[in-house]
Amino acid sequence: MSAFLHFEVMTESRKFPEGMRPLGGGEFTFKCHPGVSCFTVCCKNVELDLYPYDIIRLRTRLAIDSETFMRTHTELKKGSNPYFPTVILKLASTGKEKQCPFLNEQGCTVYEDRPTACRTYPLERAVDRRCASGQPEDFYFLTNHDYCKGHYEPQQNTVKQWLRSQHLEQFNQVNDRWAEVDTLFGSNPWKGEGSGGPKQQMAFMVCYDIDGFRTFAEAQRLVDHYRLNREHKKRIAGDDAELLKFGFEWLKDILGGRSSLVRR
Ligand code: SF4
Ligand code: SF4
Repeated sequence: MSAFLHFEVMTESRKFPEGMRPLGGGEFTFKCHPGVSCFTVCCKNVELDLYPYDIIRLRTRLAIDSETFMRTHTELKKGSNPYFPTVILKLASTGKEKQCPFLNEQGCTVYEDRPTACRTYPLERAVDRRCASGQPEDFYFLTNHDYCKGHYEPQQNTVKQWLRSQHLEQFNQVNDRWAEVDTLFGSNPWKGEGSGGPKQQMAFMVCYDIDGFRTFAEAQRLVDHYRLNREHKKRIAGDDAELLKFGFEWLKDILGGRSSLVRR
């Protein structure tokens, strides 16, 4: 079961999920709080996708390295991209049920660093990259699961208010870059090497093992291969999200995508 919905990249034609209309500037009624009868139901028996920036936030929160996080808390599955695995959260078993390992009786123990899917719910996001302005356009849809009683709470929200209240701007900014790279992976840039070859392993490290990528990037002096100003280099050296964004551009460069990096 999937309680959470994920952003989709519309590349060929603007197809919205069946029966769903984008909210636009309209309002929706929803509030989630410890007083709802369904509190934490959505954190159980859930299939939750994790995006690269989610991993950075969670491993920092748990004060473990990214490789340990991946080994302990994730599983791989075949998702919508036939040429790159999807990473999902590994649930903990509690008798009959399975639940998020970060859940306790009080609720979410990683709330400030919870993944994109948890923040976005009850909305679903779709991104259209083909718009005339060149800027990706996004759309939000309201999901409605029977078990979720938050829809009966008398709080009116607009999409804008929801994004702000859930601190989604930074997540979406990095996730949009991730969506571009995932789209490139979907074109099978590994060619003769196939899945699991050296290039795909490298791509997996950039996306999901930020500590491994930092070690690699520093050893190879990767940033020095490109024309980057001092400020940018400093940000990459001190901020994992910046390193991840650099890594995405680097992958585009070495895999034949359209990278913003300029080689020296
Ligand atoms: S991270 Fe938090 S909000 Fe998300 S499923 Fe786990 S406990 Fe629930
Ligand atoms: S209101 Fe919805 S989102 Fe909140 S705990 Fe209940 S099921 Fe989860």
